[in-house]
Amino acid sequence: MAPKLPIPPRPGQYLYDTHVHTSEVSPCARVPAREVVRLHQEAGYAGIVITDHYNDWTFETFGLKTWSRIVDRYRVGYETAKEEGDRLGLVVLPGLELTVTKTGYTDFLLLGLEPDFLYNYPYLYEIGIQGIRTLLPSDSLYVIQAHPFRLGVQVADPSLLDAVETYNGGNEAGENPPAEAFAQRHGKRKTSGTDFHHATSIGRGGMWLPERVEDVPALIRVLRSDAELPLRKTVP
Ligand SMILES: [Zn+2]
Ligand SMILES: [Zn+2]
Repeated sequence: MAPKLPIPPRPGQYLYDTHVHTSEVSPCARVPAREVVRLHQEAGYAGIVITDHYNDWTFETFGLKTWSRIVDRYRVGYETAKEEGDRLGLVVLPGLELTVTKTGYTDFLLLGLEPDFLYNYPYLYEIGIQGIRTLLPSDSLYVIQAHPFRLGVQVADPSLLDAVETYNGGNEAGENPPAEAFAQRHGKRKTSGTDFHHATSIGRGGMWLPERVEDVPALIRVLRSDAELPLRKTVP
């Protein structure tokens, strides 16, 4: 069932969708970046994190040979959304959804990877989260396992994770509650996102933040704080 929109505002709280794809980059997404921004703004969000797929099957669709061209192409979704966000007054932050298939299928939402880092260290799915962590100061990277109990997904070693996506708007019934229990058991921050691919899923997920965060370090700071961050949940 589609959520009722627009989402009623909460005084002193700002709603962020932490898991959003654009059709410019993610082959499975159907909504172009400018439309993604407009839909979220109209629905009542203060901000979104663009988490386009970063994996070999996405990069193959680009048909590009050099790594720098691939990264240029990968950044188009975020950059287009950012431009539109600046125009309409929606905060647009860069993230990515990294697929690692070494020992089973896992998706991670990553925050804190700067463009220079993306250009300098190619094919991050080859080195996985352990490898990426060795290349960055620990406080600048934030790792969330996306939809850990979705069918076919392997649950990650909790020591790799800062947070667990305990609510994913693209999950089937029954796939979110075990993620909640997993996060609880391991004392991890819980996150919620729409996993936005289609216009019909607008409004499904998100997190209410106590401030209007304008950049990724500020978002990481809020996520690492002890603040209670209410989650938006709309699908069972
Ligand atoms: Zn997708
Ligand atoms: Zn996703």
